[in-house]
Amino acid sequence: GTPFEPAGKIVLDLEKLYDQTHEELAYVAKYARAIQQQRGDYNGRVLSIRADDLRALAIVYDQSPSGLVERLTEHGVLVSDPRALFNS
Ligand code: C2E
Ligand code: C2E
Ligand code: C2E
Repeated sequence: GTPFEPAGKIVLDLEKLYDQTHEELAYVAKYARAIQQQRGDYNGRVLSIRADDLRALAIVYDQSPSGLVERLTEHGVLVSDPRALFNS
């Protein structure tokens, strides 16, 4: 498929997401904070999210899930290889 097909795991870079002031990312940031709260997962630099939640978010943005992934990639808030973050 296309490079943006959300077949793999969706992993958000929380540092970049929460530093972003771009209006378009407001709902994604809000959603990520809610998921952190539900999981009690507050100390991570990254957050893996459910494919189901990506689908729900895509509806809010009036996009396809792969379209939203593409937008998130353009904003630089997705991590393709979370393990690479810890080797730098
Ligand atoms: P739940 O859906 O009943 O899941 C209970 C526990 O099963 C979760 O506790 C987690 O340890 C595990 N679990 C469920 N699905 C997955 C999964 O896809 N991957 C992994 N690694 N573990 C999974 P946790 O994390 O403390 O979450 C507690 C509750 O918070 C969940 O209960 C769910 O109701 C909600 N929640 C947490 N994260 C999310 C999320 O990303 N999206 C949604 N919609 N709800 C979430
Ligand atoms: P991975 O999925 O590639 O994640 C690499 C590292 O990114 C994780 O190292 C963790 O530090 C971070 N990370 C990824 N998603 C999240 C997240 O939602 N919250 C937080 N706080 N950190 C996240 P870690 O924990 O040492 O895990 C290493 C590998 O072990 C993971 O690689 C994954 O393959 C596996 N793993 C760990 N926890 C789970 C789990 O709950 N479910 C499954 N299926 N695999 C897990
Ligand atoms: P993962 O832990 O590697 O899980 C990969 C896929 O296995 C999940 O994709 C889901 O389809 C299935 N799965 C794993 N554990 C469970 C479970 O307890 N119940 C059910 N019904 N399915 C399960 P999905 O949903 O797209 O999630 C992607 C990643 O998001 C997960 O990778 C995990 O890193 C994170 N995640 C999702 N939900 C939760 C959660 O409730 N708590 C935590 N801590 N992490 C979650």
